[in-house]
Amino acid sequence: MTSPFEFSLSRRHLLASLGAGAVCATTFPAFGLTAPVQKIVVIGGGMAGATVAKYLRLWSNKAVEVTIVEPSTTYVSNIMSNLVVTGQYEPALLNYNWSNLIKNHGIKLVKGSVSQVTANGSGWSVSVTGVAAPLLCDRVVVAPGISFDPVLDNIAQPVAVLHAWQAGPQTTQLRDLLAALPPTGTLVMTIPPAPYRCPPGPYERACVIADYLKRNKPGARIVVLDANPDVMAEPANFKNAFSTLYGANLVYLPGRKVKYVTSGISPYSGKVTVDIVGTGFVEEYSGDLLNIIPTQRAGAIAQILGLCDSTGFAPVNGVSFESTLRPGIHVIGDAAKTSLPKAGHVGNQGAKICADAMLRILSNQAPYATPTANSACYSPLSSTVASWLTAVYQYEQQPDSSWKYVARDQISTTTGPTEAASASTGNFTKMNTWYKTLMTETYS
Ligand SMILES: Cc1cc2nc3c(=O)[nH]c(=O)nc-3n(C[C@H](O)[C@H](O)[C@H](O)COP(=O)(O)OP(=O)(O)OC[C@H]3O[C@@H](n4cnc5c(N)ncnc54)[C@H](O)[C@@H]3O)c2cc1C
Repeated sequence: MTSPFEFSLSRRHLLASLGAGAVCATTFPAFGLTAPVQKIVVIGGGMAGATVAKYLRLWSNKAVEVTIVEPSTTYVSNIMSNLVVTGQYEPALLNYNWSNLIKNHGIKLVKGSVSQVTANGSGWSVSVTGVAAPLLCDRVVVAPGISFDPVLDNIAQPVAVLHAWQAGPQTTQLRDLLAALPPTGTLVMTIPPAPYRCPPGPYERACVIADYLKRNKPGARIVVLDANPDVMAEPANFKNAFSTLYGANLVYLPGRKVKYVTSGISPYSGKVTVDIVGTGFVEEYSGDLLNIIPTQRAGAIAQILGLCDSTGFAPVNGVSFESTLRPGIHVIGDAAKTSLPKAGHVGNQGAKICADAMLRILSNQAPYATPTANSACYSPLSSTVASWLTAVYQYEQQPDSSWKYVARDQISTTTGPTEAASASTGNFTKMNTWYKTLMTETYS
């Protein structure tokens, strides 16, 4: 195993990588916040929650009091977790905590899980499991990430699955079971219908697992069953990798949606029965190891608080990320229903737009009308090469009075994200720097 994250954080690099200046057009004095101190509670200290907390403090010049409520003692990054699955990186490289945010920005941290939020005069009362007194505040930010829908067997009973789509114990469990795969074994991986967390993530995982098998178990293979009609991100690079690097040990089948799962005798082995989308036919695939990524919705607390619509995600105002169902509560990160991809870098960017808008609202100003976010994401395609995906997301009103963050190429402003011309070792090195920069910017 290697320790790849040697880097130095320069201001120029950070701004170039994260576009921190792009989203906020306001400077501290513009907010003019005065006593009494406004209080904001942030539910969830993940990529989006940590960022919004930091920038609420920074951009208000510490005029607002910010409390993060978070049940975990360590934040385990999903980003880079696919390289922990293949054993290339140590699990510890995924671990972050909130100590620098507390030290550098005076953010308060309450350990616990939010169970309810109720109106309290013009503000809110936030109940935290295990904490006697509710937290009282003026505004709430909900950033709980995602929850997973149950995966069912053929009599509609829930089946335990190994998704490793929330980094933590399942990540190392998948790593260990991959290492134990028989030399001629089959790993079956399923991809849920969009929207799901990290559009390129499943294809990235398929590639690095195929690379691992090629090097360590040349007789084994991976079968990828995708509920979507095609590769959902970086299609040129992933499809090229599927057909060239992994033509002999990776089978990619789009339009295969999980119908039910039949567990086998050994842990997380069994059969996956899929609908061939749009045909009325079904197919069955057996695996010595099943990596089922379930369909997803906003984190449970967003459902409990009545913030979500029938899609399972939380509709928001696009310039403020304020809930359209419960004004005064903002929803950011993967839980929000927007046209932005559900990704950590985008969560960081959306959090900055939200922080700026909240400070304007608290100072009786209107949110900035046309915010911009950007996204940069590197995807390892093997243990040595990576590709990337990038876009600028511009908030735009649509003719039907709806709104959208429209993805544009960073250079030519053509609509849609741009992917790397090809995968390279240089991109792999830059990926490590990008990851460390993003995480350090978010957690310090
Ligand atoms: C394998 C994989 C690879 C990925 N790779 C990339 C990548 O390369 N680039 C990229 O940009 N993104 C990537 N992502 C996506 C990225 O990890 C997520 O989009 C990002 O973490 C979302 O941030 P979030 O803050 O919405 O949720 P999270 O980061 O999941 O944080 C949510 C937090 O809320 C807390 N919480 C939940 N409920 C409560 C409650 N009731 N009370 C208090 N706290 C609560 C949780 O404990 C958690 O800490 C990847 C994801 C996966 C699975």
